[in-house]
Amino acid sequence: MKYEVMTLFPGMFEGIIEESLIKKAIAKDIIEINLHDFRKFSKNKHNKVDDYPYGGGKGLVISPEPIIAAYNSLNLLENKKTIFLSPAGKKLTQEKVLELSQYDQLILICGHYEGIDERVIELIVDEEISIGDYILTGGEIPAMVLIDAVSRYVDGVVGSKESVLEDSLSNGLLKYPQYTMPRSFEGLEVPEVLLSGHHENIAKWRKEKSFERTKNKRPDLWEEYINKGGKTE
Ligand code: SAM
Repeated sequence: MKYEVMTLFPGMFEGIIEESLIKKAIAKDIIEINLHDFRKFSKNKHNKVDDYPYGGGKGLVISPEPIIAAYNSLNLLENKKTIFLSPAGKKLTQEKVLELSQYDQLILICGHYEGIDERVIELIVDEEISIGDYILTGGEIPAMVLIDAVSRYVDGVVGSKESVLEDSLSNGLLKYPQYTMPRSFEGLEVPEVLLSGHHENIAKWRKEKSFERTKNKRPDLWEEYINKGGKTE
């Protein structure tokens, strides 16, 4: 999977590139994160990339020229999707994450300030994606959220594929509770069944807990699961 991140603030991506599983996946050539700074594509002698909005109003809008110039400089693959991270987009869900993981290349355009010139969306964007109903200062954190979530579906990024498929939301449900050492902590015990070594009973307990948690903590998800014909036994 190749990510082409188009941004005014490439430095913000240092954390995700330099730490944890994404860092390892980059080192193993499983994923690639290429950062493209709009500013380098500015024709203005002061590297200016934004301007006041037509019609008036506060804030600055990123101009179309440097974004399109940056886009035209990319080595585009056939199986690609161009995404603008935007509060106006479709909400990112686990289902969407799985769908996006099927592409070979994702081009992620990050707005900042008041956003980007609308014509960029008309010209090159396939889909607008939001990470939730709140406003951030820029599309950089949403792009990192998307990269992190999508990469978990790329083979080899997370050690065990099984654990990815068992994680909350992969099957529309929340995952069962998990425990590790010690057996007893501040008067709270690990459930007896998990110590029994009885695989069938453990699997049954986990399934029940997964149903129970989803019903109690996320009734909206439970309803969606039932409406989609999900199994309840
Ligand atoms: N003026 C814009 C509006 O009212 O819709 C908001 C601009 S926001 C301050 C700057 C940039 O942050 C946006 O262009 C977008 O790229 C990104 N952004 C903000 N909130 C987001 C969200 N919830 N999901 C995805 N991107 C977001």
